[in-house]
Amino acid sequence: MFNKILIANRGEIACRVAATARRMAIKTVAVYSDADANAKHVSVCDEAVYIGGSAPKDSYLRWEKIIEAAQATGAQAIHPGYGFLSENEEFARACAAAGLVFIGPPASAILAMGLKAESKRLMGLAGVPLVPGYHGADQDPALLQREADAIGYPVLIKASAGGGGKGMRVVDHAADFAAALASCRREAVNSFGNDAVLIEKYVQRPRHIEIQVFGDTLGNYVYLFERDCSVQRRHQKVLEEAPAPGITEEFRRQIGEAAVAAARAVDYVGAGTVEFIVEQLGNNDESDTAGPPQGGAVPSGGSAAHKVASAGAMRFFFMEMNTRLQVEHPVTEAITGQDLVEWQLRVASGEPLPLAQDQLKITGHAIEARICAENPDNNFLPATGTLHVYGLPECVTFARNSGGVRVDAGVREGDVISPFYDSMVAKLIVHGETREQALSRLDTALAQTHIVGLSTNVQFLRNVVQSRSFAQADLDTGLIAREEAVLFKQEKVGLSLAVAGAVAHTLLQEKAAEAQVAQRAVWLDPWSRQDGWRSHGPSSRRFDYEFQGQLQVVQLTTLHDGALQLAVAGEVGGFSFTALTHGIDVRFAAQRQIVSVYQKDAVAHVFTSQGAIQIIAIDALAHAGDSQLEGGRLTAPMPGKVVSFAVKAGDKVSKGQPLAVMDAMKMEHTIAAPTDGVVAELLYAPGDQVVEGAELLKLVLP
Ligand code: ADP
Ligand code: ADP
Ligand code: MG
Repeated sequence: MFNKILIANRGEIACRVAATARRMAIKTVAVYSDADANAKHVSVCDEAVYIGGSAPKDSYLRWEKIIEAAQATGAQAIHPGYGFLSENEEFARACAAAGLVFIGPPASAILAMGLKAESKRLMGLAGVPLVPGYHGADQDPALLQREADAIGYPVLIKASAGGGGKGMRVVDHAADFAAALASCRREAVNSFGNDAVLIEKYVQRPRHIEIQVFGDTLGNYVYLFERDCSVQRRHQKVLEEAPAPGITEEFRRQIGEAAVAAARAVDYVGAGTVEFIVEQLGNNDESDTAGPPQGGAVPSGGSAAHKVASAGAMRFFFMEMNTRLQVEHPVTEAITGQDLVEWQLRVASGEPLPLAQDQLKITGHAIEARICAENPDNNFLPATGTLHVYGLPECVTFARNSGGVRVDAGVREGDVISPFYDSMVAKLIVHGETREQALSRLDTALAQTHIVGLSTNVQFLRNVVQSRSFAQADLDTGLIAREEAVLFKQEKVGLSLAVAGAVAHTLLQEKAAEAQVAQRAVWLDPWSRQDGWRSHGPSSRRFDYEFQGQLQVVQLTTLHDGALQLAVAGEVGGFSFTALTHGIDVRFAAQRQIVSVYQKDAVAHVFTSQGAIQIIAIDALAHAGDSQLEGGRLTAPMPGKVVSFAVKAGDKVSKGQPLAVMDAMKMEHTIAAPTDGVVAELLYAPGDQVVEGAELLKLVLP
């Protein structure tokens, strides 16, 4: 076994590899770019080497630099993670030339599986079922059109060198083919520097089911069962689970053996994933699509037509092989109890596979959710920013069938999600005895994921998990489109709970601040209190919020007996709250919820068991102050009565200091100084009625 490895990656996968290495007492070397100088992956490794600028091409893709770093630090092997150099055949070769072990398959296997068209040709020869299609070298547009017409629409045009869901076009009609081909080629050249395409039948209601395979240097192969990754957006995975719901043992064995045949055909070594597209044939569907039923080992190519007799049968076709560890590998780890990175390290150091096929079994059900910095409601636009709050569910770090929640993350609170790398922030992996249990654990874990500072897909993921299709395992790649109505622009938290949470948080903060002041034995003058302090009788205080674009005036009243009452948008009810270690227990009217509230500037982020919502505190006073900054005017934020002034002409005041109290809309309101200054003149006297915008006093800048 190695005693030191270099991890040629960043983020969660680099951290994940480091965790296994540490457990195996293997030293780790991180590499990092400018943007990652203080990244988590650097801190979890034993050593780190700077390799260049923030853009991947200046650092994580510079393989000469990475090999140099490995040599300089005495690492014996390089783990490429996924993305970046993981499927770079040239890099694998360069490692070998430098006397370093590339923790992955032989360069020849990467090359063979690198181009989708070439790999399909090889797989056809190896007897692995293929989607009917054309994957020849002749790229004449007229020929491609004829092939598409022969396959029958809809067809899918795929960039042969494509990946990551890019470079694909679905074509529904022959008339649209030429334009789609041209546009696919443009994208292929721009993204992959290669405009070759292949064409295949576009499978209807398809499921994406992939098989985790492993090979060792002694020629042994196993499959570690399947993962269903059908829940996708723009051909990219959103949720992944294992085992695939609703498949038979026979289907599992056939697809597993087909994957092993694929790996064997290219002398594969290490961890790999064979991706299949699975056609779901409806009841009594006597499909005449070319290809063997149940994916038997009969090569297809549009020739033999087989009838599928069984109702609800499924048929699988090879799609591509990813010659690396996959983002979603943890679900396989959860159901098999194996550490796939440990397997990679053992195989790369020449050991045989830790287990044989008949020693592997599936325990329970696991689901992974990819938490991304993006805005699902705005076409999944990636988001950047600082993770001001990064609260994760209680978890175990590595779930070995522990029935828990696992978090794989490459970031910490306070870290920045920069525009240089992908938007995946973390992965949540849950494991349960049944799918239902895993599902419910995932929903709870997502509810406990509190991120403030940038938009994420957490709520969207919860919506998917709760959708009818996902809950009932009615899986296919069209799931998100089908459930659209319940996935996007859903507000799960209403005004009253948002307000109750925000007010409770504000009051608790004030109490904490007061306690701090009291501790320092500083006299607290009543004017600086913001809670509507009065010497006698019930008191009332107003909060202004902006909620979903609308101004909401909230009134908090302390009754004679000290009980609180909250009024918002016509709803009036008793209000109480208690601070707990894991949130605030808030009761308002008939509702009771444990909420977590984080305040960032004026925005309160309220997390409840149903979902999260933002509510913006509008400081009417600060607002009144803002508008007078240039003019030197301090105005009434609303029509009302002047109760008192806390200052007199000539007083020096500092920003935030209370200046006057107004009574309006049955509430008292303290007007604070917007800036440091000197009171020049009081323009009204206590008891005067004023109109909105009336100038109350003149403040001059010092
Ligand atoms: P999988 O098939 O495992 O779902 P993808 O093909 O989507 O994975 O890519 C694997 C991951 O590698 C991506 O999610 C992304 O995090 C990362 N990745 C791939 N290419 C790059 C790149 N050029 N720069 C940064 N990260 C990348
Ligand atoms: P990538 O390299 O981008 O991962 P894949 O060939 O794996 O490309 O395809 C990505 C996704 O596109 C699949 O997971 C599936 O959802 C969809 N897809 C691919 N081929 C087909 C097909 N023939 N019919 C229907 N959907 C397909
Ligand atoms: Mg793929």
